[in-house]
Amino acid sequence: MNRQRNVNHQADAQHFPARNAFADEAGFRAIIENSSDIIARFDLQLRCLYINRSIMRYHRVQRNRLLGKTPEDGGLPPPLALPLQQAMEKVRTLQCEQQVELTLQLNGQRYVFETRLFPERDNARQFGSILCIAREMTEASLARRLLTEENAVLEMIADSRPVNQILHSICQMIESQLPNCMSAIMTLDRSGQTLSLAAGPSLPVSYAEQLAQLPIGPEVAACGTAAFWKRSIIVNDLTQSALWDSLGQHAADAGLRACWSTPIFTSDHQLLGTLAIYYDMPRSPSPSELRLVYRCSHIAAITLQRNLHESQLYQLATQDGLTHLFNRRHFIESAERHLNQARRYQRPSAVMMMDLDHFKAINDRYGHAVGDRVLTLFSHLCRHCLRGSDVVGRLGGEEFAALLPDTELEEARQVAERLRQQVAQAELTHEGHTIRFQVSIGVAIMQSNESLDVMLGHADRLLYQAKSQGRNRVCAPEFDDKPVHQGELPLGLA
Ligand code: GH3
Ligand code: MG
Ligand code: MG
Repeated sequence: MNRQRNVNHQADAQHFPARNAFADEAGFRAIIENSSDIIARFDLQLRCLYINRSIMRYHRVQRNRLLGKTPEDGGLPPPLALPLQQAMEKVRTLQCEQQVELTLQLNGQRYVFETRLFPERDNARQFGSILCIAREMTEASLARRLLTEENAVLEMIADSRPVNQILHSICQMIESQLPNCMSAIMTLDRSGQTLSLAAGPSLPVSYAEQLAQLPIGPEVAACGTAAFWKRSIIVNDLTQSALWDSLGQHAADAGLRACWSTPIFTSDHQLLGTLAIYYDMPRSPSPSELRLVYRCSHIAAITLQRNLHESQLYQLATQDGLTHLFNRRHFIESAERHLNQARRYQRPSAVMMMDLDHFKAINDRYGHAVGDRVLTLFSHLCRHCLRGSDVVGRLGGEEFAALLPDTELEEARQVAERLRQQVAQAELTHEGHTIRFQVSIGVAIMQSNESLDVMLGHADRLLYQAKSQGRNRVCAPEFDDKPVHQGELPLGLA
C-alpha cells in the first residue's frame, strides 16, 4: 500500500547544503554512508546520482549499477521502483516535499519504508536534484495496520456479525501481517470428536475439502493433534512429519510444506477450535510471529465464545431443558409461521395433541427420575416418527403437540398411529423392572384457514375423547365412534 501526501515544506540550501558546501565533506559522507536510512540523490531525469550502502541490506545489487539510471532501469523491483518514480515526478512538478510508503517483498519478508523526497536547490536557489530518505518502518507499519484491522474485527464482534464472516476477517488480518502465509480457523463440532473448517480464505480448495471434517486425535495433522493435546503444534516441514501420514498426499498436491497450529480456548480452557498458519515452503515461526498467532487466536476465542453463549441462550429460550423439543412458546411461534405459509399457498396442515397415559402412576411407582426418562424416550420416539420439517414441542408436563406441514388428515392419522404403536412397544428398565408407557393422541387438520389456537382446540377435544374412550389410542375427526385400538392400561399399572 502506498500512501502519498503533499507536505507544505520546502527544503532549502541551509538544511541540505549542496555538494562541497560542507566544511568536512569526508565526515559528512561517512555519516551518510553509515546511516541506517537509505539515502539517495536523483537528477531531474530521475537518474540516480548517489545512493548510500544501506540499500545493500535489502537488495543485492552493485551500487554502481544503479548510478546514472532511473530506479526501474537500475533493476530495483518494480513494486518499489514505480511508486518511487511517481513520487519523484510529483516532486519535480510541484517542487515540494513528498512522502510515500513503499513496500518491498523479498524472500518471504515484507519491508515497509516511509520515504521522504525533497527538492534540492543550489546556491542560486535553482531546483536541480531530488533527495530521497527512506526509513524502514516495517514493525511500526505492521503494528499500526494490525491495530486498525483488529479494531475492525472487534467492531464486527460487537455488531454480532455472522461468526464465519468474523473468522474470515481474522484470517485476512493474519495474512496481511504474514506475507505468503495461508491461515485457517477450524471449530469444534458438537460431538467434540471432530473439527470443521470455518474459515480459510487462501487455502487451496483441494486441501480445504480435506479439512471439511477432521478427526481429533494424537496424530492427525497439526490441527487434530493440537486439539487433542490442547497445545500448539509446530511442523516446520510436513513432508518429514508423521502427523501427515493420512493427509500427506493431499498437502503435497496442494503445495503445502509448513503448518503451525494453536488451539483456541474459552476463558476456562474449554476447547473451541484451532487456528493454523500454512506455508508453501518449510518454515518455523519467529517469536514475533508466534506472538501474532496467539493474539489472533485470542480474538478468535472471543468470537467463538460469544457465539457459543448466544446459541446456549437461544437454546435456553426456545427449548425444553429435559427433552430438547421446542418449549411451548417457541412451538407456538414456529407453528404459527408454518400455518401462515400453508394459508398463503393453500397447503394442507395437521396438528397432533399428545398426552402420556397414567403418567402420574409411573412417577408414583418408580420415582420422578424414571418419569423423566420416560419423557425423554417419548421425545426420541416423536423425532423418529415425525419428519424433520414437522414442528414438535412439549407444552408442559407430559403434554406434547406437533404441527405437520403439507399433511392431509389420513396421512396425519397414520403418523399418529405409528407413533402410538412405537410408544406402546417401547420399554425401559429400572432396578429389574421393565417399564412400558402409552400415549393418547388427538389429530386435527386445517379446514378453513382457522387459527392455530382453534386447530389445537379441536385436537385437544379429540385427545380428551381418546382418553375417555380408554386411552392408548388415536382420535381424528373422521373416526366416528370406532376406536382404532382398544385401550389397555400400561403393563405393570393395571
Ligand atoms: P392421564 O392418563 O389422564 O393423562 O393421567 P396422567 O397421570 O398422565 O395425568 P396427570 O395430569 O394426573 O399427571 C401428570 C403428571 O405428570 C403429574 C406431574 O407430577 C407429572 N409431571 C409433570 N411434569 C413432569 C416432569 O417434568 N417430570 C416428571 N417425572 N413428571 C412430571
Ligand atoms: Mg397424562
Ligand atoms: Mg396431562
